[in-house]
Amino acid sequence: MPPLASPRRVERLITGQPTTDGAGVKLTRVLTHDLQQRLDPFLMLDNFASDDPDDYGAGFPNHPHRGFETVTYMIAGRMRHKDSAGHEGLLQNGGVQWMTTGRGLVHSEMPEQEEGVMEGFQLWLNLPGRDKLCTPWYRDIQSADIPEHTTAQGVLVRVISGHSHGVGGAMQRPADQFPTDTLYLDLHFPEGGAVFEQPLPELHNAFIYVYRGTVQVQDDADSETPVPLHRMAILSNTGDGLRLSTAPGSPPARALLIAGMPLREPIAQYGPFVMNTREELMQAVHDFQNGLLG
Ligand code: FE
Repeated sequence: MPPLASPRRVERLITGQPTTDGAGVKLTRVLTHDLQQRLDPFLMLDNFASDDPDDYGAGFPNHPHRGFETVTYMIAGRMRHKDSAGHEGLLQNGGVQWMTTGRGLVHSEMPEQEEGVMEGFQLWLNLPGRDKLCTPWYRDIQSADIPEHTTAQGVLVRVISGHSHGVGGAMQRPADQFPTDTLYLDLHFPEGGAVFEQPLPELHNAFIYVYRGTVQVQDDADSETPVPLHRMAILSNTGDGLRLSTAPGSPPARALLIAGMPLREPIAQYGPFVMNTREELMQAVHDFQNGLLG
């Protein structure tokens, strides 16, 4: 892979909003409603992390969804999942559940700690209007089934979706059917500093979220922007990719890198429903109230 000629710069650093959701689960909403247009096709990113069961004990009891996908990635603990169509699964530490809510379902998500901790992420990925009413679909991806590779500089790359350094992700879907063409990487930088490059198409919106240590975005040979722990960096769309680094002598660091092709469609959201128009939202609420979401 040739080195990048003009890596993207940091457009904006974002601090997540502490909030609660479900039955009082404490979490940090990293990608908030006001960033949905900028980060189209991504609608939300939550980071939950706790060693106190009181922070999440009641979980996310039965609730509906329609019109998008949820991607849940557990890095510690487990998430027990059950839905109205009879699907049940236990998402283990290191695994991913990729759920296409499509026309709708009602489900519960119950976090469980492991050795006293529970930590993970939930990303909401929009569906194009033509697919919002598709049949709901799931994939539970166990940790061992997520392809990994380690670069020459020692950066471990877990490829959840898309491609990185010639390695195809656990989720690979044809871009003509799934136009968001999502890249989802979990990057583990080793102790002592390393550089990682990822080519990205200019049209694709991209961000990183640092969840251990500090990671730098290098926009040219002389300029780097540190992205501190628990910050999201929205990346400019100009350039041929992304160059990330950790400083020489620094402790290990970890970050998610997420990118995708925007849908450029109107976004209408009412809680757990994301459609294109207000009328479609009203239909979703009506269908839910009449027990038609599974
Ligand atoms: Fe849910």
